[in-house]
Amino acid sequence: GVAARTVDLHKTYGLGSAEVRALDGVTLELATGQFTAIMGPSGSGKSTLMHCLAALDTPTSGEVMIGDTALSHLKDKALTTLRREQVGFVFQAFNLIPTLTAKENILLPVNLAGRKPDQDWFDAVVDAVGLRDRLGHRPAEMSGGQQQRVACARALVSKPSIVFADEPTGNLDSTSGAEVLSFLRRSVDEFGQTVVMVTHDAVAASYCDRVVFLADGRVVDEITAPDRETIL
Ligand code: ADP
Ligand code: ADP
Repeated sequence: GVAARTVDLHKTYGLGSAEVRALDGVTLELATGQFTAIMGPSGSGKSTLMHCLAALDTPTSGEVMIGDTALSHLKDKALTTLRREQVGFVFQAFNLIPTLTAKENILLPVNLAGRKPDQDWFDAVVDAVGLRDRLGHRPAEMSGGQQQRVACARALVSKPSIVFADEPTGNLDSTSGAEVLSFLRRSVDEFGQTVVMVTHDAVAASYCDRVVFLADGRVVDEITAPDRETIL
């Protein structure tokens, strides 16, 4: 199936001579159970595309579908519910709550949604991400790599339809980055997750099933089953 798609997506910032076409007609299908990298030069529209897909930003025209749901048809309340229940997001800067423990950070989306966590799923995610002995730590007591793994577990805890990661290894050394990428890979292979990641890094993209290249707000190329040499 298709976890998410965009149809002729346009996003324009500013007006008149200051107008910037961040997205200029992006049509993209993201298959369920695939790990996709979005690459392209700075300013090519990668973040804008991710934010539109994740319902964090509204396109100027075109459509975003998460599963069978067209986002343009949803009112604010339904969008908030969809964001909470069907979309996971991992940011470059981790974005954990400093006063909460790792466990409390991971369970935050479930608690905000007023739902009971699925204990088996929580345990599987925590074990897969290697955080069992860190659950009581606050972010300041963890390394960057550990914090990003907490953020990954938080993104997965609601069993979202799709997880978006915006340069998740951008602030990490290569060892911590590899741990985060291995976990995202496992979440696809073992849990059937769908993951979309913006990255500048060919090594990171080599963990993916597919790489989509953007330039000037358009999809200009794509490759499947990349290896490092084809990306570099
Ligand atoms: P990338 O993630 O590939 O670096 P972005 O999606 O961040 O690209 O940006 C695409 C284009 O849209 C750039 O020209 C950028 O300057 C512009 N842009 C992004 N966000 C805004 C904004 N909030 N206001 C005005 N222009 C923006
Ligand atoms: P990792 O191998 O996950 O990258 P590190 O080697 O960076 O972890 O950290 C080793 C240990 O030091 C871990 O137990 C971690 O909790 C702790 N630690 C790392 N950074 C900090 C920090 N800024 N403050 C407190 N403890 C830290």
